[in-house]
Amino acid sequence: MLTIDVLAEQLASYLPSDKIDLVRRAYYYAEQAHDGQRRRSGEPYVIHPLEVAQILSEIRMDHQSLMAAMLHDVIEDTEVPKVALLEQFGEEVTEIVDGVSKLTQIHFESKEQAQAENFQKMALAMSRDIRVILVKLADRMHNMRTLGALRPDKRRRIARETLDIYSPIAHRLGINDFRIELEDLCFQAMYPMRARMIQKAVNKITGHRKEIVEDIKHDIEDRLKNEGLEGRVEGRQKHLFSIYQKMDRHEKSFHEIMDVFAFRIVTDTVDSCYRILGVIHNLFKPVPDRFKDYVAIPKANGYQSLHTTLFGVYRIPIEVQIRTQEMDTVANMGIASHWLYKNDKDQDEANNHLHNHHARARQWVKGLLEIQKNAGNPLEFIENVKLDLFPDEVYVFTPKGDILEMPTGVTAVDFAYNVHTDIGNSCVACRIDRHLAPLSQPLQSGQTVEIITSPGSQPNPAWLDFVVTAKARSAIRHFLKNQKRSESVELGRRLLNKSLYNFELNLDELTSSVTERWLEQAGLKVLDDLLEEIGLGNRMAYLVARQLMELSETELSDTDTENDDAMPLQITGTEGLIIKFAKCCRPIPGDPIVGHMSSGRGLVIHNEGCRNLNEFRGNSEKLVTLTWQKQLEQEFSVELKVGVENVRGVVASIATSVTEADANIESISMEDHDARIRVIALVINVQGREHLARVMKRLKVNKSVVSISRERG
Ligand code: MN
Repeated sequence: MLTIDVLAEQLASYLPSDKIDLVRRAYYYAEQAHDGQRRRSGEPYVIHPLEVAQILSEIRMDHQSLMAAMLHDVIEDTEVPKVALLEQFGEEVTEIVDGVSKLTQIHFESKEQAQAENFQKMALAMSRDIRVILVKLADRMHNMRTLGALRPDKRRRIARETLDIYSPIAHRLGINDFRIELEDLCFQAMYPMRARMIQKAVNKITGHRKEIVEDIKHDIEDRLKNEGLEGRVEGRQKHLFSIYQKMDRHEKSFHEIMDVFAFRIVTDTVDSCYRILGVIHNLFKPVPDRFKDYVAIPKANGYQSLHTTLFGVYRIPIEVQIRTQEMDTVANMGIASHWLYKNDKDQDEANNHLHNHHARARQWVKGLLEIQKNAGNPLEFIENVKLDLFPDEVYVFTPKGDILEMPTGVTAVDFAYNVHTDIGNSCVACRIDRHLAPLSQPLQSGQTVEIITSPGSQPNPAWLDFVVTAKARSAIRHFLKNQKRSESVELGRRLLNKSLYNFELNLDELTSSVTERWLEQAGLKVLDDLLEEIGLGNRMAYLVARQLMELSETELSDTDTENDDAMPLQITGTEGLIIKFAKCCRPIPGDPIVGHMSSGRGLVIHNEGCRNLNEFRGNSEKLVTLTWQKQLEQEFSVELKVGVENVRGVVASIATSVTEADANIESISMEDHDARIRVIALVINVQGREHLARVMKRLKVNKSVVSISRERG
């Protein structure tokens, strides 16, 4: 049975005695804290943290990771508070323990693949110190190894979670040894029958093949010796879960998968790898297209090796992996291999890095980068690894358990706007992990966020001080701006009318040419701009009113001389939404026009002769005399009915004629037609009657055109 003394002895192989003493101290502390607690198996609880520490020592983790392993369930499962650990063991160890506890608290429920990936990222994001993940993986490993003591349903749930979350994390971090063991344990827990069958079949087959494997091994070893090359030759076994996956996914039979001999050759230098490859290819005939050079182009998690497949005796394939000792270590231990080299090489340097949470992970990634640079191919995949390890995102839960990915520093307000703009605009409070919290509090990975809304509430300008996402920021600004504008416009209108009253005027009575002239002089676009300025106090309502009054008077006297009736409103075509041109007769500059005040639609401009006006004639209140302003730049819609011969391509040729006359086609449609003649309804944009005349002239010379008329009600 494992005891602290046994472990201490093992640790002596790579840790100095003062560090081992610290690990011991953590063990005794945990023993006391867990005193009286037992595992499901009946053993004293402290066996579990001790085993976890031992798993970590196998990948030669530093003393702080081992101490954290000893203490990893103390905060969660005993009365000992975090501060007590802080006093006893310092910040570094306590932070790792705290991180592991937080990961333990999260329960993963979702079945979706994407959610599982987010959850993996969330776990990485929550672990600012990558050692948190390694301790958690070791914790999970020991729990998986001792799963037998639990109820079957619980066993399956934990196995599922491990397969969805923790073995992929081990894979991302390149810790192959962990991944393989976790996968096999999960497989056994989830499909005990299938696992047993495959295991039995594997045992049987390896028994039969022992001699052949030994023969091939000796052949290779002899040849290496003759060539003077270093190299350790090992037979390889596929792990159960990968056999199962291959059978399941690729629908291969067990014998198809297993009918392969697999070897690994571990050598001293990269150069030797390639030389051994040459030697092996000389010894056995290589299978074409099966050679892979992961030395020059490593896999995403840093894996490096040469892979080749050869024809053996009876043409049974032999798979060979060739790599250096260092590549072998990285292949098995991934990110954890970095602790190994750090411990071996330079203890002081390692100590200097302890204050940097990600130093080792960064160095691991840097190592990958260098490999990658030398290999000279795109760095994209390293970027992915980096993103996984140092996410700029936090991952938070909605009350329904969905995971949202958001940038670091986000607050509940960002969260609310991320869900929906309306929720953001009406949010008044929030609950973080079921407790009321300030809206400004930055969210952290793993938290559950619930937004409390209230109808009729409004965004607070103060939110702009703390929101992080562009979406929230622009939504708040947009809301505030609109609100402010509509309010100040309303105020401006009241102020201006009050001043205009002194001159016996009213804003609604002013002609649009008066206000427009005023706006033009002031360099403003629309009346609302003016009203807003007044509302905001940027302009004096009294002064504006006086200027408007003066303009109004001069205009009246101008027009009085030309027209003794009411002053006609000048139409420019740029009035925007206030004025509409009737679709029935589509007036254009040059046409005599009349305006009709239509309730709800404002002023609609018709051709004077439009029959739709007939019912209003004589009702002068509803009709407004209008004139066109001289020199208009605008274009106006006009509708033509063009009778054409029914020949192929006629529409295109009509369109060409219109375009040649510099007019734009707004719409084109077939009206009625018989076998010979079609009528095309053509809505085009022209500058006025002269322009229209040019277009019609152009159309008349088109040979297919038999008639043209303008629609005017
Ligand atoms: Mn544990």
